[in-house]
This record gives sequence, C-alpha cells and structure tokens, in this order.
Amino acid sequence: MPSPWPETPPTSAHRSAYADAARKSFWLDTLPERDLHAPLDGAADADLCIVGGGYTGLWAALYAKSLDSGRDVVLLEATRCGAGASGRNGGFLQSSLTHGLGNGLSRFPDELDQLERLGLENFHALAADLERLGIDAEFEPTGDLIVALESRELADLEEEAELMRRFGHDAELLDRERIRAEVNSPMYLGGLWTRTGSALVHAGKLADGLRSAAVRAGVRVCEYSSVRELRKTAAGVSVGTDGGVVDARRVLLATSAYPPLLRAIGRYIAPVYDYVLVTEPLDARMREAIGWTARQGVSDLGNQFHYYRLTADWRVVWGGYDAVYRYGGPVGPQLDEHEPTFAKLSQHFFATFPQLEGLRFSHRWGGAIDTCSRFSVFFGTALGGRVAYALGYTGLGVGASRFGGRVGLDLLDGRESEATALTMVRRRPVPFPPEPLRTGVIQLTRNRLAAADRNDGRRGIWLRTLDRLGLGFDS
Ligand SMILES: Cc1cc2nc3c(=O)[nH]c(=O)nc-3n(C[C@H](O)[C@H](O)[C@H](O)COP(=O)(O)OP(=O)(O)OC[C@H]3O[C@@H](n4cnc5c(N)ncnc54)[C@H](O)[C@@H]3O)c2cc1C
Repeated sequence: MPSPWPETPPTSAHRSAYADAARKSFWLDTLPERDLHAPLDGAADADLCIVGGGYTGLWAALYAKSLDSGRDVVLLEATRCGAGASGRNGGFLQSSLTHGLGNGLSRFPDELDQLERLGLENFHALAADLERLGIDAEFEPTGDLIVALESRELADLEEEAELMRRFGHDAELLDRERIRAEVNSPMYLGGLWTRTGSALVHAGKLADGLRSAAVRAGVRVCEYSSVRELRKTAAGVSVGTDGGVVDARRVLLATSAYPPLLRAIGRYIAPVYDYVLVTEPLDARMREAIGWTARQGVSDLGNQFHYYRLTADWRVVWGGYDAVYRYGGPVGPQLDEHEPTFAKLSQHFFATFPQLEGLRFSHRWGGAIDTCSRFSVFFGTALGGRVAYALGYTGLGVGASRFGGRVGLDLLDGRESEATALTMVRRRPVPFPPEPLRTGVIQLTRNRLAAADRNDGRRGIWLRTLDRLGLGFDS
C-alpha cells in the first residue's frame, strides 16, 4: 500500500490558504499585552540562578520557592519567557514521561511501571497546581485519539490499546463508523480513544501563568538576558550576560534546543524544527460537517505523523509531519518559516478534511525541538555539581517538563527521591555523532522512516540496526 497522503505536489490553492497567515505562534499572539521584565543590569547575587524561562525553568523556579520561600532565585531568559517551545507547541498535555509506552517499554522495561505511575502523579499534580496557582491555561481533559489511515495500522491500534490497558489506562478502540462519528474524516479507518493521562492546554497561557506565579512567589525574572558563559568561582558559579553577572551558589540550565552552555549537552541534543498551521475559527456549517464535539487531541500513526486539535474559539491547530534538521543544528527566528513544510501541511489538512475547503489559515510558525536519541528528558550535573540540566523531551514536554524541572532541582540540591534513583534519571542517552556525520545519519534515518511509511511500515536494515542499538530519531 502506498502512503495515504497525496503523491502530487501541493497546489497554488494549498499555498494561498496560508499566504496571509500571521507569522507568529497563535498562543503567543492571543496573550494579553504585558510589560517586559527588565534585563539583568550589573552585578547580582543569588542562591539559585535558572537559565531559560520555558516550562522547565519556570516549574523549577516555583518548586525552589515552594521548598524554601527565603531562597533567592533569579531566572534569566534570553528573550521573553515562554517564547521558546513552551509558547509554540501543540498544547497536548500527556502523562507519559517516556514519550509513550512503546518507547518506554523498549528503553526502560524494568522501571516502566514506576515511570507510568510517576507520570500520572505528575499529570494530576500539574492540574492541581493550575487550580492552586489560579492559572487559566484552558485545561481540557478531553483525552486523545490516535487514528489509523491504513488498514495495516488497525493492528497497531489494537496492540497500543492492549498496552495502554496493561498499564491501567482507559483506552477504547473505535471502528470506522465510531471514529468518524467522533471526528469526521473520510481518511479514518479506525481509532483509539485514551481518556486517562491526556488533556489539552493553551500553551502560551500555561507559560505565562507560570511566569506570573513565579514572580508572585518572589522569583526575580530578567528577560532579554541571554547567558553567554558560566564560570566556576570559589563559592559557586558566575553567570554572565551582556548586561551583567549573577554570582550564584547553584545554576539550573533549562535551555532546551538552544545553543548549549556546556559542551557535554551538545553531544546529546539535535535541534529539530517542527511547523504548525492554525485555521480561522470554524463556522457553524463547518462545525456541523466535522463533528469533533468531544474536542479530543488527534494524531495519526505514521512515522511521520500529524497532530491536531481545536482551540477554545474553534480553530484547528495542525502541525507535525516533517521534522527538519539543518547542518550544525542552528536555532533562531529566521528558521520559523519553512515554505515546503507549510505547503505540505496545508495539502494534508484538506486531504483529511475536504469538507473544510475554502477555510484559511490565520497563523503559521515553527519551533525547535530538543531531540535526543532516547526521546525523553535526561539530566546531568557539571562544574563539580554546581550546575544541573534537564532537557531532551523530544517533542513531548508539556507535562514532562514539570517533572524535569523538579528532578533537575533535586539533583542540583542533592535531594534524594524516588525519581532521582531511577535509571532513566541517572543514565544519559547515547550521544549523536559530531558533524558532518550527524547530518548524514539524521537525514538517512528520516529518509528511511518516510520510506517505511510508503512501504507498509516495513523497517529496512538501517532502522532495524538503530532499533537494536536503542537509538532513534524523532520529533
Ligand atoms: C512545534 C512544537 C510542537 C510541540 N508540541 C508538543 C505537544 O503538543 N505536547 C508536548 O508535550 N510537547 C510538545 N512540544 C514540546 C514542548 O513544547 C517542549 O518539550 C517544552 O516546551 C520544553 O520546555 P522547556 O522549558 O524545556 O524549553 P523551552 O520552552 O524551549 O524554553 C527554553 C528557554 O531557554 C531560553 N534560553 C536558551 N538559551 C538561553 C541562554 N543562553 N540564556 C538565557 N535563556 C536561554 C530560551 O529563550 C527559551 O525560552 C512541542 C514543541 C514544538 C517546538
């Protein structure tokens, strides 16, 4: 069976559907205006300096203050808090800490029970934190749908359902009629609705709500304060920006896919770009034509997959499929656009929902994913234990970043917990090779994954070798 996606190139109609779209994240574009936090200016002291104002850094800051409200915490953010992946993602909040059960089972089989339990605890604690902190992130406990577009994928869905149930999830298989009754696409052949450990959020409101909560808790936030260097000092670490220096006792790095401040991190992380389109709000006729009244997050099943969901005002957020790695792993605003990917996303959107023909896209953007070879957050310490880092969520960090920020801080403070004893926490991923080999390996892997999608899912020798080595590439 060939791929279910059109073989023909995208048309001018596909391209013109997003031609006028705003070139910014819908989530960031729909936040209320606020004053920026002043950049770091001159010298400052701190007990703890956190570098990076995304979910990981903000959750860590809140946790530090909850443990000791007197602890002096400074957070340095290169641009605006939440402007990285945390303000650009799909807003799928999942309990898994291991990028899904299948990946968890292949990499951490002995501790997957524990990881699943900790993931669900983290998921519920996150929801409770939103209540407690008064953060309206448009949390919707909708569960999620995985949809099969090819008949061979129906068996994959059954296997996934069995696995989900084995780990205590409420997962229901839907046949062709029932999945189309949930969300009406002529491409769907079957689906799996998982109702536990899965919700949707407004990505930007989550980041901004965490920022406000951190400020209320007494964290000093500096924006437009890009950290240039870390230097070990007699008592701690000196953290230098263009405008000043923080002398901190301890430093937590939450810098995701951005250029790493420690050489060790660069070996493990490949920044991979993922792109997103958002439509105009659906009108009453379109809503009728599409169903989707339970508003679940949806993803399809290929190696190259789409993820999509509704916003509060009934737009469709539609992203994924391509994962773009560029030589040397650059990250920056000049890469937020990728015309070939937008064209393909638009074409695939209208193939999935032909009844929405004529609908236009209001927003388009891209974001960098901190991809590592095991697809899940990893940790480490440096400079004699004065610096710790937590990153590598590989595109599934909306929920896991709360766990990552907290565990990163536990490691930094030398606090032992159930999580800090895990192999998953103590062991780092297999590093990627250096350039130019890195680009070659990643492009070959992407190429073979696409070929497997066109070839009934059959994994050739290259992918099977990577599987055996426990290596992978994903976004
Ligand atoms: C397009 C896209 C879709 C995604 N969809 C989903 C999804 O639906 N569900 C899901 O679970 N996950 C998703 N993810 C992944 C998720 O967004 C991330 O895992 C999560 O946001 C990671 O948070 P973070 O704080 O670690 O990183 P980020 O939010 O990227 O924060 C890192 C911050 O560090 C700052 N920084 C970097 N270097 C420095 C420096 N030297 N000095 C100061 N500051 C610095 C950056 O400016 C940035 O603000 C998606 C990601 C992308 C890009």
